[in-house]
Amino acid sequence: MHEATLAENILNIALEAAEQNHATKIFKVGLTLGEMAGVEVEALTLSFDVLKKNTPADGAELVINRIPIRATCNKCGKSFRLANYNFFCPECDGILILKSGRELLVDFVDCE
Ligand SMILES: [Zn+2]
Repeated sequence: MHEATLAENILNIALEAAEQNHATKIFKVGLTLGEMAGVEVEALTLSFDVLKKNTPADGAELVINRIPIRATCNKCGKSFRLANYNFFCPECDGILILKSGRELLVDFVDCE
C-alpha cells in the first residue's frame, strides 16, 4: 500500500465533498481502516498533513476508526479475532474465513 497515494485519494474525496456542500473549510475527515488493509497509519497521517496544505483541508484532522480483523470458522462457525495471521481455527481444524479487517473507506467529511 502506498500511503502517499492513499492520502491523495482521501484528500480528493474530502475536497470533492466540500465542493458539493459549498464548504470552504474542512475540519475532519473520518476514515474506516481495517487492521488488515495494510496501511501504516503514521505514514498516512504524515502524507495527508503535507498534501492538505494550501487546500480547504489545511486544518483538517484525519480521524481514523480501526476495524479489528475478525474471522469465522468454516467448520464450527465460531468467530474469532484473528491474531498473527493464523487462519486455522483454534478450536477445531477448520479454516477461518475473513469477515472484517480489510475495510478502507472515507466515512465522513466534516466541513463548512
Ligand atoms: Zn472451528
